Formats: sequence, structure tokens, C-alpha cells
Amino acid sequence: MESVPYDKRSGKIWFNGAPVNWSDVKIHVLSHGLHYASCVFEGERVYDGEIFKLEEHTERLFHSASRMGFKIPYSQELLNKATKDIVAIQKIKNGYVRPVAWRGSEMMAISAQQTKINVAIAAWEWGPYYDINKGIRLNISKWKRPAPDTIPWDTKASGLYMICTLSKHEAEQQGFTDSLMFDFQGNIAEATGANIFFKNKSGELHTPIADSFLNGITRRCVIDIAKSKGIKIFERKIKPEEMIDFVGCFLTGTAAEVTPVSQIDKYKFTVCDLIKDLSKSYQALVRKKTAA
Ligand code: PMP
Repeated sequence: MESVPYDKRSGKIWFNGAPVNWSDVKIHVLSHGLHYASCVFEGERVYDGEIFKLEEHTERLFHSASRMGFKIPYSQELLNKATKDIVAIQKIKNGYVRPVAWRGSEMMAISAQQTKINVAIAAWEWGPYYDINKGIRLNISKWKRPAPDTIPWDTKASGLYMICTLSKHEAEQQGFTDSLMFDFQGNIAEATGANIFFKNKSGELHTPIADSFLNGITRRCVIDIAKSKGIKIFERKIKPEEMIDFVGCFLTGTAAEVTPVSQIDKYKFTVCDLIKDLSKSYQALVRKKTAA
């Protein structure tokens, strides 16, 4: 399955109002979304046939669109139902859902006021993104998260992912799995598609304030889980030099789930019981089992 390109797969994709044959969902090369990144998307996971936090993801898709100055021409309720329908049609048990909305081909210039907004929802069977039992290794990106007054930073707008792909490719070329990005002031921000947490010697968790990057849905879930376990958690500005004092580290994200980190550049971390336990509790939550 992995080797089949995404445009050559089979089944249906919900496209502008109805399920359409996978191979018939085509957009023209002169699409505004492609040229000017007037495009927003979501990433959702299906666990045991249920979409985790579907309403929150749909809400964020609408928030992203609104921050990009366009209006999705459907209600959130309709898109929630369309997402469930496409997951059922595709018979997804454990997988991934990708809703996307973009400006069409009616105008091909910076100004795009009259473009039609297109929406598609695709779903496919998918397993873990990283090995959640083993720590992954990160480099430090040469790219910084943009300042909050330079781009709609609190969204999943396609344009924000330019630097993520550049950073990820550089990391992979250097033999790392992912990349840690700093914010525009040089504080620790996040990885290329996931938020970051650190554990100190006293067993406290420290995570950067989401004031120039996505406040992930998984991040918020994990903060709640940690609080329910009585773990002290601090959201604050974290300087890169502080990594020397942290003993544990993990990433959170819909795709990444709770993934331990064993190394960032020269800093080493252990995959400790607290992180393994948080990861297990997150797995229990997404599958609605009683938290371990
Ligand atoms: N940051 C970035 C850049 C991401 O792409 C993601 C994945 N959506 C996250 C953080 C984590 O967000 P979430 O937990 O909502 O998936």
C-alpha cells in the first residue's frame, strides 16, 4: 500500500459535496491554492473506526480558512457527516483523514476575491508515524517559525509547511528523523509536524507557550492527562541552552501521537517511565479505554 502513489489509490474521496471516484478527483494546474498557497488542511486519525476529536479538527479547519480570508461553503455539521461517511465508505479501521480547502481557478493573480472555495476529504488506512516505544533523533533546523505578525501562525495553512518540509528534508539528509525549530526570538518552538515537551530532573514537564505555532489538539490532551496524573506542567518560554538540564523529551501530534525523543543535536534524553506512561494513557484515551 505504502508504495502506491496517493493519486493512484482506489475508493472514493468526498469532493465539493459528494463522494467521487478516487482517480476522478482532479484539479486544474491553474489553481490559486497551488500557486499562492491559498489552502488550508487538517490531519485526523481514525482509531477502531472512530475519528478522534473530529469536531475540534473541523472547527480548526474553519478557523484556518477564516484566518486566510475565505469561507468554506458548507456547514461544520455537513463536513463532520461527510468525514464520517468517507471513513465508512473507505472502511477505515485505523487510519488518517485529510480534509483540505483551497481557492480555485477563477482568478490567477495575487487578488483572488472571486475564486470558488473547493473542499475535499480523503481517508486511508494508516499505522503509527514513528515508533512510539523508541526515542527518535532530531537536529536543530536552520529555519525559524515566523513571527506571529508575519503569517496566520495559529492555523494549518499550507504556506506554513514550506519551512517544515525544508527542515525535515535537511534532518533526514543528516541522518535524523525530524527537526526542532526555534521561534523568531530563538526560543524552542516545535518539531516540523508536532509539539514538544521536556521533562526535568524533578519530574516536571515544560513545554513552550503556543504563541507563534499551532496549539495542537494532542498537546492539549496530553496537558490534561499529565494534570490528571498530578504531574506539574509549565507552559513557558524555553531557551535552547536549557536542554542540558532536561532528562526527557517527547513530541505530540495527531500523526506523531506521543513519541519519545532520545536526542536533539548534542543533547541526549532517556525514554523514561513517565513518558512511556503518558504515551500509553494517550493510546488508551484515543481508543476510549480506561486510562492506564
Ligand atoms: N505543529 C505542527 C506544525 C503540526 O503540523 C501539527 C500536526 N497537526 C502539530 C503541531 C500538532 O497538532 P495536533 O496535535 O492538533 O495534530
